[in-house]
Amino acid sequence: MHLEDFFNNLELFLNLGLSKKISSDNFFNEIYNFCKKNIDLIEKEKGLKEKIGSFLAYYKPINSLSEERQTKRIKEGFKLIEKLRNQYLIDEPKLPHKDLPLKTDIKFIKGVGNKRASIMREFGINNIEDTFYFFPRDYEDRREIKKIIDCYHGQNCLIVGNIVNFEEKKIGTLKILSYVLEDTDNSIIVLTWFNQDFIKKFLQPGLKVAVYGTVEIEFGRKQMKNPDFQIISSIKEVKTGIFPIYSLRKGLYQNNMRTIFTETIEYSHYMKEFLPDKILEKYNFIDFPKRIKGIHFPKSFYHLKKAKETLKYEEIFLFEFSVLIQKQKIQSKEGIAKNIKGELTKKFISLLPFKLTNSQKKVFEEIRKDMKKNIPMNRLLQGDVGSGKTVVSELALIDNFECGFQGAVMVPTSVLAKQQYKKLKNDFEKLGIKTELLLGETKKSDKKRIKEKLINNEIDVLIGTHALIQDDVEFKSLGLVVIDEQHRFGVKQRLALIKKGKMPDILFMTATPIPRTLAMTLYGDLDVSLITEMPTGRKKIKTLLVKENKLNEIYKFIEKELKLGNQVFFVYPLIDESEILDLKAATEMYEILKSKFKKYGVGLLHGKMTSDEKNTIMEKFVTKDFHVLVSTTVIEVGVDIPDATVMVIEHAERFGLSQLHQLRGRVGRSKKQAYCFLVTSQNISNETQEKLIKFASTTNGFEVSEIDLQWRGPGKFFGTEQHGLPDFKFLDILNDPELIEKARNDVLRILEEDPHLKKYKNLKKEIYRRYGKKLKMLEA
Ligand code: ADP
Ligand code: MG
Repeated sequence: MHLEDFFNNLELFLNLGLSKKISSDNFFNEIYNFCKKNIDLIEKEKGLKEKIGSFLAYYKPINSLSEERQTKRIKEGFKLIEKLRNQYLIDEPKLPHKDLPLKTDIKFIKGVGNKRASIMREFGINNIEDTFYFFPRDYEDRREIKKIIDCYHGQNCLIVGNIVNFEEKKIGTLKILSYVLEDTDNSIIVLTWFNQDFIKKFLQPGLKVAVYGTVEIEFGRKQMKNPDFQIISSIKEVKTGIFPIYSLRKGLYQNNMRTIFTETIEYSHYMKEFLPDKILEKYNFIDFPKRIKGIHFPKSFYHLKKAKETLKYEEIFLFEFSVLIQKQKIQSKEGIAKNIKGELTKKFISLLPFKLTNSQKKVFEEIRKDMKKNIPMNRLLQGDVGSGKTVVSELALIDNFECGFQGAVMVPTSVLAKQQYKKLKNDFEKLGIKTELLLGETKKSDKKRIKEKLINNEIDVLIGTHALIQDDVEFKSLGLVVIDEQHRFGVKQRLALIKKGKMPDILFMTATPIPRTLAMTLYGDLDVSLITEMPTGRKKIKTLLVKENKLNEIYKFIEKELKLGNQVFFVYPLIDESEILDLKAATEMYEILKSKFKKYGVGLLHGKMTSDEKNTIMEKFVTKDFHVLVSTTVIEVGVDIPDATVMVIEHAERFGLSQLHQLRGRVGRSKKQAYCFLVTSQNISNETQEKLIKFASTTNGFEVSEIDLQWRGPGKFFGTEQHGLPDFKFLDILNDPELIEKARNDVLRILEEDPHLKKYKNLKKEIYRRYGKKLKMLEA
């Protein structure tokens, strides 16, 4: 038994006592006998015998106590065991035997040299300090020397014995070395190496060795392939313990890494602890050298667990700091305190063909309050597809205009930009607000004209794509920035636009609702407004799963809808036919559908069209020049066609759920009942089927993104965009919501008490070491 198993068992006795599975008459005797049985183990550890002695003494009189006090005493025991664990199962690295600074180049460490150093640099290890955070990918449990007879197939074992025989074979080009190892029980195991002739130099019959590897049993014969070995003269020399497994590159072996790291982590003693004492105490975390030792060369699995817990907290704690310091920085800047009268918005609202929902009114009030303050607004407006975010942003832009400032609206695609522009221009003209559109494809002469007007304050609201953030786009007085579908933009792009004004107010909008914990982690620096209600009179979109061979029934259904004057989308994942994937391409289907629905007119839209072509098609669809639009996913975001009631998505299994949700959101934007058909191939996996069924059962964007996120993981969920989320090694942003919340609260408390971290110099240094780049972007 290992000491940690002993403690675990002791704890088990306490649990049994607490739940009365062991009566109080027996309680003491049970633990006493258990300790007695393990006296060898106890005596091996310095001072443990006395401690166990007083532990037992504490429980001796338990039977004579009242039930209440018995319970109390048993509960006390858990704490005692935890103390023993901390004392006996955790250790720190040895003290460094040389006096090297943390930034010492890795090549100066014994056993490294220039060649290995260059390989290590590929891993990002340049100096001593870098090794601390280069974590093993796994561990080997070599705490115990096993008898050959006790090893079972597939088990990883450490075995000690004498080499009693050697054989060399050649099969084709394969050279096989076989050694027979015999242990003190006279059991044998065969060790084999393939094409590793150099082993002969080290191993010969007559030697005593310790080997570690996976035991295989074939025809009753035990063997190990390519085991790790150590030549020894006595069993005492065998290296035992929990060993790290590092990722390797050619020219760097596991043993090299272990030797190097054994030395480098000693220098963790030189690192100044950056986690505040209060935090270490509060969560019973372990200090820096102990957690670095614990993650590389844990004394016990308990040590490893503690190290992981502490490092995980460290990740989120420092990240939350970076996020909240960012927020602090934004808020410490003087923004524009707008003196909003609201006359113009009143007029605008009276002209709207609908009434604002309560939710829209509420979020607008939140935005307005922010804009009145003299700190810049930094707000994220979340609302499901079709919840009516555009009108909210229009209200903000109007307020901003009324106060004499220019506004900018940045959207991810030019189709969307054009549609937004059309809508805003139409709405704003009546109010005397001058709008312009700026795209990458805008003609040079037009660009020049727009830029001139912009700097002369002759444009009030500029709408566009990334083109807005080009260097030579200058505003006279930018007061409000609206960034639509904000998750599609990287941090840098967002900042570039913001910097076109003097701390303008910023409104981010997203229709990819992000689950709460994730929003908290990702957008901790933003205030969040949420549109919780859909415009009234909307019917829930009916989502139906259909197999390919039932397409004809859908066509019949569509015919009926078209007769009513409604419009239909067909969406395909690819534009060109791919022989391998056998996907029906939009272009090909376009031909088929064109003849099928000739009466109603059919249009085609795909990514290879020029922006002008796309725009013309979209416009014609809006004006009902045709009623069926065949498209690839370019229609994905934002595009608004009120009379569209049917969305057919072919090869639905090839889309991500968030994308499906966006596509589905293109219909059901009026009082009419809308339908979404997810057409799949016959043979999709059960998993996919299940996922799509879940999707069909909800129209709530938050639920969809939860399902999607669980399914794909955060990396893919956010795509390749520069989303500002670091590569957490231990933290699982989906499954650690409580920890994230705790860390966030801890950070808030510290910043409140000491906003500039004057009392936390080491902490501050570490935050800037990790996130300095991001934080400095804001300062320039
Ligand atoms: P999204 O939030 O997806 O950007 P939009 O702002 O494009 O949604 O709005 C979707 C549709 O709903 C638009 O046609 C818009 O005019 C309409 N709309 C917005 N607010 C309301 C409302 N309060 N009542 C009725 N229709 C509304
Ligand atoms: Mg929108």
